[in-house]
Amino acid sequence: MTAISLNAPALFDLSGRVALVTGAGSGIGQRIALGFAQCGADVACLDRRTDGGLSDTATMIEGTGRKAITIGADVTDRSALDRAVEETEAALGPLGIAVNAAGIANANPAEDMDEGQYQTLMDINMKGVFFSCQAEARAMLKHGKGSIINIASMSGVIVNRGLMQVHYNASKAGVIHMSKSMAMEWVARGVRVNSISPGYTATPMNTRPEMVHQTKEFESQTPMQRMASVDEMVGPAVFLASDASSYCTGVDLLVDGGFCCW
Ligand code: NAP
Repeated sequence: MTAISLNAPALFDLSGRVALVTGAGSGIGQRIALGFAQCGADVACLDRRTDGGLSDTATMIEGTGRKAITIGADVTDRSALDRAVEETEAALGPLGIAVNAAGIANANPAEDMDEGQYQTLMDINMKGVFFSCQAEARAMLKHGKGSIINIASMSGVIVNRGLMQVHYNASKAGVIHMSKSMAMEWVARGVRVNSISPGYTATPMNTRPEMVHQTKEFESQTPMQRMASVDEMVGPAVFLASDASSYCTGVDLLVDGGFCCW
């Protein structure tokens, strides 16, 4: 019998790793930041507001025994992202994992959408992800190793029935293809880039009281008949961040309760 040298559970261990998570003050980014710490990583938590959510994330991470720093920065500000990576490495060590979850959503019929609404969303959801990847990859390319995970959406693959959000859908399709493009540019230099495309997920983005009717629609349209909880984004993110996915780059991982099958 061949000797088994692979310790499968250790593949998911993030001990000794340093992660940077944008959008870490709320929802999916917050839960993934905590999930990484639960798997052993120290985490730099970035969001545009430093009050409330972001300090809660850091407190929860410290509760796991891992280190956390908080960084107030807007992902549309390229130099702020460069500084964020520098600050992360100075405080925690070489950056090995990044999750870009900062994003916004809103809606308006395409024919009525003004340039400001279109541009603001594109600036955050697409240019912000690009600037984040640039800053993160510059550090990772120096180390010859790293994993970047961009939070896209199933809206980058399908059009959500009844939601008039052409700019959002286009931004997420852009994130998926941008991730594949960067994955190919950096494939020979040790830096992997993948995306996660969540389906409807219960976060402040879509659990506002005025969304109650829409939430029921989301649930009934999803094959699993429910929205995802933020906890269900942790496993996919740990997989893509860790050595468990060492042969995956340029992948878009749909985490959508089966939505895109129908
Ligand atoms: P969320 O709870 O609103 O969290 C997003 C976080 O990003 C917020 O703290 C937000 O701050 C922050 N942010 C927004 N713009 C920023 C900027 N310019 N610079 C820095 N931080 C910024 O939303 P979520 O549902 O967790 O969404 C996270 C990601 O998942 C987004 O990219 C979203 O498009 C994607 N996604 C969500 C769902 C879903 O159903 N929830 C489904 C598919 C994909 P503010 O609160 O100040 O805006």
